[in-house]
Amino acid sequence: MPRLSINGKENDFREGESLLDVIRGAGIDIPTLCHDDRLKPFGGCRLCMVEVDQGRLVTACTTQAAEGMKVETHSSAVESLRRTNLTLLAEGFPADEPLNEHFQFQRYLLQYGIGPRGARSHEFKDDTHPYLRVDMDKCVYCYRCVRICAELQGQFVWRAWNRGERTRILPTRTEGVSPAPDCRGAAADQAPSMLESDCVSCGACADTCPSGAIMDKAIAEKGVPKVWTRTTCPYCGTGCEMEMGSTDGEIIVARPLASAPVNKGHLCVKGRYAHAFVHAKDRVMKPLIRKNGQWEEVSWEDAYHFTASRLHEIIDKHGPQAVGVLGSARASNEENYLAQKFSRVVVGSNNVDCCARICHGPTAAALKASFGTGAATNSFNDIEVAAAFLICGANPTENHPIVGARIKQAVLDGARLIVIDPRRTELAAYADVHLQIQPGTNVAILNSIAHVIIEEGLVDRAFVDSRTEEYDRFVDLVQPWTAEQGAKICGVCAEDIRRAARIYAQSSPAMIFHGLGTTEHSQGTEGVRGLANLALLTGNVGKPGSGENPLRGQNNVQGSAHMGCEPSNLAGYTPIAQSAEWVEEVWGRPVPREQGLNWMQMLDASGEGTLKALYAIGYDVYFSNPNSNQTRESLKKLDLVIIQDLFMNETAREFGDVFLPVCSSYEKDGTFMNSERRVQRIRKAIPVLGDSRPDWQVICELAAQMGFAKEFAFESPKDIWNEVRKIWKAGAGISYERIEDGGLQWPCLSEDDPGTTILHRDKFPLGPKAPFSIAEYTPTKEVTNAEFPFLLSTGRTLFQFNAGTMTERTPNVVLRPTDTLDICPADAEELGVQNGQTVRITSRWGSTELPARIDDRIRKGELYATFHDPKVFMNRVTSNYRDGKTGAAEYKVTAVKVERI
Ligand code: SF4
Repeated sequence: MPRLSINGKENDFREGESLLDVIRGAGIDIPTLCHDDRLKPFGGCRLCMVEVDQGRLVTACTTQAAEGMKVETHSSAVESLRRTNLTLLAEGFPADEPLNEHFQFQRYLLQYGIGPRGARSHEFKDDTHPYLRVDMDKCVYCYRCVRICAELQGQFVWRAWNRGERTRILPTRTEGVSPAPDCRGAAADQAPSMLESDCVSCGACADTCPSGAIMDKAIAEKGVPKVWTRTTCPYCGTGCEMEMGSTDGEIIVARPLASAPVNKGHLCVKGRYAHAFVHAKDRVMKPLIRKNGQWEEVSWEDAYHFTASRLHEIIDKHGPQAVGVLGSARASNEENYLAQKFSRVVVGSNNVDCCARICHGPTAAALKASFGTGAATNSFNDIEVAAAFLICGANPTENHPIVGARIKQAVLDGARLIVIDPRRTELAAYADVHLQIQPGTNVAILNSIAHVIIEEGLVDRAFVDSRTEEYDRFVDLVQPWTAEQGAKICGVCAEDIRRAARIYAQSSPAMIFHGLGTTEHSQGTEGVRGLANLALLTGNVGKPGSGENPLRGQNNVQGSAHMGCEPSNLAGYTPIAQSAEWVEEVWGRPVPREQGLNWMQMLDASGEGTLKALYAIGYDVYFSNPNSNQTRESLKKLDLVIIQDLFMNETAREFGDVFLPVCSSYEKDGTFMNSERRVQRIRKAIPVLGDSRPDWQVICELAAQMGFAKEFAFESPKDIWNEVRKIWKAGAGISYERIEDGGLQWPCLSEDDPGTTILHRDKFPLGPKAPFSIAEYTPTKEVTNAEFPFLLSTGRTLFQFNAGTMTERTPNVVLRPTDTLDICPADAEELGVQNGQTVRITSRWGSTELPARIDDRIRKGELYATFHDPKVFMNRVTSNYRDGKTGAAEYKVTAVKVERI
């Protein structure tokens, strides 16, 4: 290893390291202002100056370490220069600002004993944003905000306007909808305020700003948190790690964790800021039982007694098949494991499921059928390796914002991008090819891309011959799917299909991401298998930067199903027939063999009167399910509805009999599993609030009340996890001790197994060869006609999350107050609809009202609506159709009409 000397001491370094890296690696602290490890070296502030080889002053951040260098980090020349630079900066910093060592620049002033001497010059000040406070009087022109907004988030909100002494750093706004589809455009103007800017509220500027010019409003109002606790975000399936800052049991703010493998020092608006729900005034803090139509507070003992005796009555009278249990995608792995154990051991039925049924059920089924494992093949760290991306039915910059930001950066760095989506999403605006298909035609477009790859000789023959089967049948299947045929069915241009096929097949490696725009269709499973077909055709399996990667919606939806909240599979997603005997040995109890009902079947059974009781853990089923009119009819027939949640959700409000109040993930320990199979820790950042309890404790106590204390005698989440590891062989190596820092990806078979970042490198769990899927395209039954002329898709927005249970109780409502119906300008004009005007939207299934938002990302004849606001209840409109293989709901296509009110 090469060596250099720092302050007279020899140090090793690696080729390519900067002097700053080596100096800090040696444990020596030197001041920096413009430097941030997340950004490219800048060399602007000159505080990191060091003396090299007796007399040469260089900026340590931009100078590469070289063999034999002699570096002095605190020589008198260097220190004098630092003092001069800090003094110059202090002359512009307001003298009346009390210095706070939380901010790096202010800390240096305190350290060097330099007092600020500037006057208030009334630069840009802004207090309009719910999370950020801006006071540009305090700006030291290090440009970290400008650079982090461009280099990490890719949003380009902060820009330097004017030149020389007149340079000012101000936020920008691009005309159109927010978040803007592509903020690189020179057409952006100075924004009148932060709230009206293109800001996506990731907080990276506040996180990096060393002077306090841009800061978290919570810190300005409540002070710097006293305690910081490492945990994992409770929102999407990206699985970002962060530190929750709290003071005296109150969460103040979160900050990203630089060492986190997934987010690498970045968070989105939800992870960083949307935590106020924890302290919301309407959080249920005591158990409730509905008596004579009214909720009454009761003790935990009474709640358990009531619930257990009602469950016993129903099981005694109607048998265990009359009870259904739903695990929660927002609860921990340990809690979901207990939920399915409760169903199988306490109730005696396999009627257990989770929300994966209505979202990514098709992903698990399809990837299992294609490759043998129903989960992402690769890792997020492959994003920077991929030469091209194919993103199908996913909007990562809003729904998985950290993944979206990483993909955006990769594309800005030269990776190719194909987007298949009916809407012009933000990433579509960056794409080489955007196939803006008609909703419901995924299978057709994928067959057509496959046809072109075969027709143009772009198939990886070596891979196909050695690692796939059914190729000839697949060639026959896609033979009629010429680019022209695909174009006709999908409503796109044939040449664009050819371009997409060439880019995907010729840019190696190429990585596929898909989301609910692929799965929530009547052919959801076939859609995912269509993507797997493309990966197999081109050899994009089992190597870095490739594969087929679902973006799971909620933080632990992967873990929820994987822990056994699934009627056909036990923990580890292993079929009951395959693993029941082994599980019985661990449990000391029989595993029921009778086929269980999935969630949609439970709902049907409830409508038919055969399901009598539902235990819904952290899942607002009434609000989330499609076709809520029919859901209501089914739910109201139940004799017993047990709700376990933080809030009186719509299901509880309308149908609940007993409410068991539980705490948030910030108040307990456990693990989540993210989209890339990574098991990560969640940690208790604040004490449990009120009389709520962790889900795991409630399930154990209820089980004990029902006579199963021994089987549920767990002292802690770690205890539960250790039982999971006995059952789930592919997770056996994942101990709590090993995931203290960054988590591990399964399969991880033993405690010396480093885990698996890429699946299927040499073989598949199915055997040596993976089969192509041979699935014909079947059009959706939701078709337009004169009465229902529009096709509606529903989905999420950046600022809200699913049923709104959490985000609706945070200042995110300022950023996105309610759901909208997005409509293109031409259709709005024809209907005479103005931006913001309330409209009625009606399908064959129901009707609701919400404000219209004119949005040129939408194609004529199509609509897009979000579904977070219970006042809107968008699922009154969505249909009853389901994926033929898994029962997942067809949320993405509903024929509707729109009327002005
Ligand atoms: Fe949380 Fe997802 Fe945002 Fe990361 S990207 S901070 S996991 S919501």
